[in-house]
Amino acid sequence: MSGQGRSQLQTAETEPRALESLLGFWAEAGVDTAFTDEPVDRLAERILPPPPVQAASKAAAAPAGPDVSGAIAEARRLAAEANDLPALATAIAAFDGCGLKFEGARQAVFSRGVPDAPVMVIGEAPGADEDAQGQPFVGRAGKLLDKMLGAAGLADRVFITNTVFWRPSGNRNPTVQEQLVCAPFVERAIALVAPKFLLLAGGASAKAMLQRPEGILSLRGRWFDWTSSDGATTLPALPTLHPAFLLRQPAAKKRAWADLLLLSERLDRPERPVD
Ligand code: URA
Repeated sequence: MSGQGRSQLQTAETEPRALESLLGFWAEAGVDTAFTDEPVDRLAERILPPPPVQAASKAAAAPAGPDVSGAIAEARRLAAEANDLPALATAIAAFDGCGLKFEGARQAVFSRGVPDAPVMVIGEAPGADEDAQGQPFVGRAGKLLDKMLGAAGLADRVFITNTVFWRPSGNRNPTVQEQLVCAPFVERAIALVAPKFLLLAGGASAKAMLQRPEGILSLRGRWFDWTSSDGATTLPALPTLHPAFLLRQPAAKKRAWADLLLLSERLDRPERPVD
């Protein structure tokens, strides 16, 4: 560990708020495993006990967790039937296939913004304010997002949604299964809005949309191709830091700002080569 990292840890040991902030920073960066003082032989853990053959082959085919293939199929069917955004909002609200709906969420939270916006912002999941008001990004993080979008000249050029449409209890991250079940609706929203670019706010959004293993600090500020599940549509997608993370780590705002400038530059000057 570097000298700076050690001194951050020492401050965190004595100040709970510093500890909370540091943990938030690490979690956002994808560091979600605590290390112990003593080395642990992970190889030995993996060798013993051997996994049953059937379970091992299943695990390779699908992400660990409950089987959500039926719910995904139903979501695809309902999403395909929605011919406009109001119909899609109605379909989402009526959909019972995502467990989040029954975890205490008050209502479905789908979208806000311009229906034919050139930029679609995709966040992670609604929080308490969004759950209460029925719109994404309306709490403190949303206010910061709006401020930054406005300053970058993008205020009235965005359609905003999330990877899931119900607030996860305790503001935990949505699971991969919850995101997979909601994905057909997200994809249908992209088809109906037909944006030129996707802005992926936060690690959970970037991972779900791009299917990449890296943390957000490595993905942010780089262009990736998002491709629809049928392979017919490809859009440039830019991961950026989540505004809730910026509230905890204001020093990171300059990186998110650089990302927004990259986006507005590409939007307004499409003729310029992309790095
Ligand atoms: N965080 C998100 O990712 N989405 C919201 O709608 C609100 C907070």
